[in-house]
Amino acid sequence: MKKYVPADPIKSPRFSGIKTFMRLPHIKTTEEVDFAIIGVPSDAGASFRTGQREGPAAIRKISALLRGHNPDLNISPFDYISGIDYGDLPVVPGYIEDGYEKIEKELSSILETDIIPILLGGDHAITLPELRAIKKKHGPVALVHFDAHSDTIDEYFGKPYNHGTPFKRAVEEELLKVDKSIQVGMRGSIYSDKHLKIPKELGFEVITTNEIRKIGLEELVKRIKNRVGDAKVFFTFDIDFIDPAYAPGTGTPEVGGFTSAEALDLIRELKDLNYVGFDVVEVLPSFDPAEITALLAANIVYEFISIIAHKKSKEISK
Ligand code: MN
Ligand code: MN
Repeated sequence: MKKYVPADPIKSPRFSGIKTFMRLPHIKTTEEVDFAIIGVPSDAGASFRTGQREGPAAIRKISALLRGHNPDLNISPFDYISGIDYGDLPVVPGYIEDGYEKIEKELSSILETDIIPILLGGDHAITLPELRAIKKKHGPVALVHFDAHSDTIDEYFGKPYNHGTPFKRAVEEELLKVDKSIQVGMRGSIYSDKHLKIPKELGFEVITTNEIRKIGLEELVKRIKNRVGDAKVFFTFDIDFIDPAYAPGTGTPEVGGFTSAEALDLIRELKDLNYVGFDVVEVLPSFDPAEITALLAANIVYEFISIIAHKKSKEISK
């Protein structure tokens, strides 16, 4: 079998070459590929700062730092899996619904094979068309949603599509198994107390940052696993889940969040869920001194890749 793997950093320096994710080959193929990195450079749904359209490029650039072995999961992902950097999906700046159509259409065609997509945002509005494409392939899926915000507002500025609304729409469009879905990390000021109730009324389990501080990370992991069970799951990671001290390059930062180390550890602890896709969204490079937010996002993606390899390695050893 042909295998697509990153360029060898021992043979060619990591600062060299075209900036694909982790220096994977940029090939628009779906043959002999386990996962595809896919950029979605859209900020048409941003409500405060804009510039998330630059996110995929920034994450790709700094991802050159990543090396081939993950000591925390004790796995060299590319011993088991093949991956590509597909490039970016088409977007339409300023016209979110047109962008949605294009994102859904092209992602759907990628998903005609058994590829697991790892999408780089873009603001969080992009997760809605992603989930539309995922549903066509897999039916409704469970959602694991790490974010400082629930993103379940009904409308923003009188409009239904925005990075504050995708999971309200996703429930309405029956894209989710909402009884298996969980939102984690909500914190910060909100528009009114009714916004606390909306996600619960929609059927999500919601665990706020405050609650997590009380129950601890171990109990959080248990609750996520219990909720999701063996359902097919999409993991959506809004970088503002992390404290802005660690991830300042984002559109709607909220203080009092998690550390990078806590987040990476949480992802590893959730390695045995039945994932069908991932995204990491809301990286905003112009507010990202020293590229630390993009670096964190790249490492989150590396954990996702490692999880895919972990699952493959278990299948092989069966
Ligand atoms: Mn979000
Ligand atoms: Mn957020």
